[in-house]
Amino acid sequence: MAHYLASIYGTEKDKVNCSFYFKIGACRHGDRCSRKHIKPTFSQTILLPNFYRNPARDPDCRASSAELQDHFDDFYEDVFTDMALNYGEVDRIRICDNDGEHLSGNVYVQFRYEDDAQRAVEGLNNRYYQGRPVYAELSPVTDFHEARCRQHEFDECDRRGLCNFMHLKYPSSSLKRELQRSQELYRHERRKEERRARRGREREGEDCGGSCRSSDGHN
Ligand SMILES: [Zn+2]
Repeated sequence: MAHYLASIYGTEKDKVNCSFYFKIGACRHGDRCSRKHIKPTFSQTILLPNFYRNPARDPDCRASSAELQDHFDDFYEDVFTDMALNYGEVDRIRICDNDGEHLSGNVYVQFRYEDDAQRAVEGLNNRYYQGRPVYAELSPVTDFHEARCRQHEFDECDRRGLCNFMHLKYPSSSLKRELQRSQELYRHERRKEERRARRGREREGEDCGGSCRSSDGHN
């Protein structure tokens, strides 16, 4: 019995827990859903709902597709850099391009460590981005392959932009590589810095052991 319950948890067979919330971190029924949305108490993934505002959604938008990609790349770089510098090592960022309100512009950031995700949620909820308050929450999403629509392009998907699975928007591959490389370098430098500081402290400890009384001048 317990094994059966565990095996159906969060799937369509589960009559108690919402499979959409469990897999995708967002369900079109929101708080009115008849199934439970159980918020995780710890997770590597955080969600910033509706955080990316795609200018293409403005009916008067005249931007070219290259300009729209630049706009998205700038945003992606801002988010990646901010997360990596302020909260911890970023494993992946996924940004939804769906039209449905519960998925539109959703930004998922998966950290390497749960503690960093927790700190990010606490920190982000006290911040503003481009004049708007930021809202962030821990998300149950672990596997983005499960969360993504099998039809990558809207044209191939019957539900188009209103699909309840993720349709993702991607940064230019050169930007993605560059950000990953700079994160690795930054982590590498930080580890070196930490080792240097630790050695410094150890040396100080050794010095104090014997001679600091006479050498610091107050006998
Ligand atoms: Zn639901």
